[in-house]
Amino acid sequence: MSAFLSSAPPAGAGLRRKTRQVRIGRVQVGSDAPVVVQSMTNTDTADVTATTRQIAELARAGSELVRVTVNNEAAARAVPHIRERLLMLNVDVPLVGDFHYNGHKLLGDHPACAEALAKLRINPGNVGAGSRRDDQFAAIVEIACRYDKPVRIGVNWGSLDQSVLARIMDQNARLEEPRDAGAVMREALVVSALESAAQAEAYGLAGDRIILSAKVSSVQDLIAVYRDLSARCDYPLHLGLTEAGMGSKGIVGSTAALAVLLQQGIGDTIRVSLTPEPGGRRTDEVVVAQEILQTMGLRAFTPMVIACPGCGRTTSTFFQELASGIQTYVREQMPVWREHHDGVENLTVAVMGCVVNGPGESKHANIGISLPGTGESPSAPVFVDGVKTVTLRGADIATEFRAIVDDYVANKYPKKAG
Ligand code: SF4
Repeated sequence: MSAFLSSAPPAGAGLRRKTRQVRIGRVQVGSDAPVVVQSMTNTDTADVTATTRQIAELARAGSELVRVTVNNEAAARAVPHIRERLLMLNVDVPLVGDFHYNGHKLLGDHPACAEALAKLRINPGNVGAGSRRDDQFAAIVEIACRYDKPVRIGVNWGSLDQSVLARIMDQNARLEEPRDAGAVMREALVVSALESAAQAEAYGLAGDRIILSAKVSSVQDLIAVYRDLSARCDYPLHLGLTEAGMGSKGIVGSTAALAVLLQQGIGDTIRVSLTPEPGGRRTDEVVVAQEILQTMGLRAFTPMVIACPGCGRTTSTFFQELASGIQTYVREQMPVWREHHDGVENLTVAVMGCVVNGPGESKHANIGISLPGTGESPSAPVFVDGVKTVTLRGADIATEFRAIVDDYVANKYPKKAG
């Protein structure tokens, strides 16, 4: 059957697509496992100190898998040392090695690197050119089998396998009604991923050791590609809008694409590929990925702070400062809270700017505060589980409110035995 005849799944199903399940170190991906958050370092992997530090930061921010580029001998030599240092820091996050062009050689020459990695990521378009391609692909798969490592076959539209593209273009040209160039490119991406997966299985890699991705930088193309890919295989899929960009553009683009797919039950791991602002934090990509999953109700990572946008009824900056302060505070507490307070990630805190929606929204949260708007009496009622418990006044509202949050966490989320 022509690959062009396949159909995408119906929209809006809302249920997770059925897939195989792949174990990556201690993390399960696919089937009914929670959607996993990934990130990638931007340090020189050969710099063991800097890379270890960044991986630890990403893991502590909540990244459940961290990918590092393994681009040369020095990087391959560094990987086992990075893993060792992470374990000394008590950071047991699975590491994914990203290989292009020379992966067969680096993995072959550095068995300790292959051993230290929990997963290999290879790009079929960058495995090798011409007749060398299949041998080099087979060599990487053989190493993955030998060390029992899963492989992500990650196709990217910036480095699409040109032989696959040429073949699909030829097939398209012979159709009675040829498809447009965009459709041909999308088809080539999907075919490249599927054929490479079939080839890996033919070389001995088990079907439950394969994850696929097919990344593009346009939201509509990404949705179309993944809907098609998901309909044509049962491998777990890693989602990400490649080259999403900086700041709000990167966040909005990634969210728009990933949310549509996740809502259709497509996607087993995600990464938000943000370009950091100069001096910006790499961990932002983890926070955004978590927030996508949490705001969609798919997972809970950290207490949610609900805040109104403010308006002409809030003329001071106190309201924004309190909302931002609480948001930062709960996120900073999470590494400790997570250890000692089971279920704390489900906590909701509302910070509202005035009496219009303040008391109502505050009652719906676990803890809510309704600040006084312009011209209102300078008092801030606090609601705990829907009941007004205290009214705060004066200069210490922020400190007192934080103490109420601490108290609530200590009492409502005790550590369960075992
Ligand atoms: S709750 Fe009050 S301050 Fe906040 S947006 Fe609504 S009217 Fe404005």
